[in-house]
Amino acid sequence: MEEKFIVALDQGTTSSRAILVNGQGKIVDIRQREFPQIFPAKGWVEHDAEELWRSQKAVLAELIQANQLKGHQILALGITNQRETVVAWDSETGESLYNAIVWQDQRTSKRCVELKKGALAEVVRTKTGLVIDSYFSATKMEWLLQNVASVQSASDRGTLKFGTVDSWLIWKLSEGKCHCTEVSNASRTMLFDIHKQQWDLSLLETFGINPNTLPEVKDSDSLFGHWEYEGCSIPIHGVLGDQQAALFGQCCWTEGEVKNTYGTGCFMLMNTGEKAALSAHGLLTTIAWRRKGVTHYALEGSVLVAGAAIQWLRDSLKFFEEASQTESMALNANDNELYFVPAFSGLGTPYWNNEARGGMIGITRDTGPKEIVRAALEAMGYRTAEVLECMSLDAAIPITRLKVDGGATANNYLMQFQADVAGVEVDRPKDIESTALGAAFMAGLAVGFFNEDDLQKFRTMDRNFSPKLASEERSLMLSKWKEAVHRICAPKG
Ligand code: ADP
Repeated sequence: MEEKFIVALDQGTTSSRAILVNGQGKIVDIRQREFPQIFPAKGWVEHDAEELWRSQKAVLAELIQANQLKGHQILALGITNQRETVVAWDSETGESLYNAIVWQDQRTSKRCVELKKGALAEVVRTKTGLVIDSYFSATKMEWLLQNVASVQSASDRGTLKFGTVDSWLIWKLSEGKCHCTEVSNASRTMLFDIHKQQWDLSLLETFGINPNTLPEVKDSDSLFGHWEYEGCSIPIHGVLGDQQAALFGQCCWTEGEVKNTYGTGCFMLMNTGEKAALSAHGLLTTIAWRRKGVTHYALEGSVLVAGAAIQWLRDSLKFFEEASQTESMALNANDNELYFVPAFSGLGTPYWNNEARGGMIGITRDTGPKEIVRAALEAMGYRTAEVLECMSLDAAIPITRLKVDGGATANNYLMQFQADVAGVEVDRPKDIESTALGAAFMAGLAVGFFNEDDLQKFRTMDRNFSPKLASEERSLMLSKWKEAVHRICAPKG
């Protein structure tokens, strides 16, 4: 009998990927294609929405051809995607009306500063679990309606469709039959009431968005539509926003479990079970997933610049050619107290300061590339420790274990520093592709290809890093870091 698989589509910020997962929950093949980042103005970040689809379709076709798959061998498609990014399209032509406005885009920052001054901040926090920020989808949609004539006229004609990237891919895969999204994605729009689990009409009114332009919101393991391939109707049966997918892929299925993903930014999520805990320490409350009708919530902390600082040292300062070189550079660095706060585009949790910009403190004559590289790696560890502190305070229980994934977890120096400075056990799995696996697991569970016990067993550990510092030493390090952040990023005046 021919082997069966799940295919996960991972539509990320810099590339589209298609991943083939077998019955043992193992990744058999990955195909990847990068696409251009578009920067039309300072602080603006766009993607060509058609190119997102074309690159996604191309890697899917490549994966199928390279593995000589027949349609019936693919039991289901799962989708995971960059969150918050907005696409507007016309239901008659099926084509996008403007570039996708990416989560990193800050064109609506001023609008958000204004909005924060009023009573809306508390409404947004209690209904959506978020803080008012240009990062989320709502003000991006508002901007499109106010600034792009074709979007406004499609809205007047009743043919405008808005969606996050999952919704756009489902529309394209189903050839325009389905306009739907999934709860974890909806919970990042700043328009979705995470308690009632429906679009909030008063927020839609605030941003001038017609409810008919928004997708239907479904469970994460629903049937979202079909993709017709080779005479087979392949179900799209699992969808999750990227960070929630990593939480699911790390098997953080029970309350209190925490994962941290080290990529361009760092995103930490804690499963808070069936209750939506509101943070008193600058974390966001978000939907982790809704499966078989049961909702799991999460607390989320965001470090906006993490691996991006390593990219900057590589591409702009030319300190090294490959990110993997940073581990030995750090190990050979002089032991001086250098702090590098890479707040290139503001600071996330718990500061939520869009205006903050980066800096270094503690430069001496023997500071060179190696010392700066080490400080950049340590910044990821320090910022993550700060987020973890917030999470422990909100959870009112100490967090002792962190499951990690993402590209930068390959760095052993960083992982040991993380364990030391946060005072937690750091578990690195063999397979650090948790995001794609999360979408594949969700889809595979939905169609009965996997069961939960097996998936837990399939996730094997590569290495554990235990904390080696005394708690006084750790506290001192963290307080010096916080002082550096304060000196570099403190508000003027
Ligand atoms: P994303 O999904 O956000 O694009 P990835 O999970 O692919 O990110 O991780 C890539 C990021 O991790 C890049 O920012 C890169 O600079 C950083 N990175 C990759 N390998 C290492 C390493 N060995 N040490 C430190 N940083 C690394």
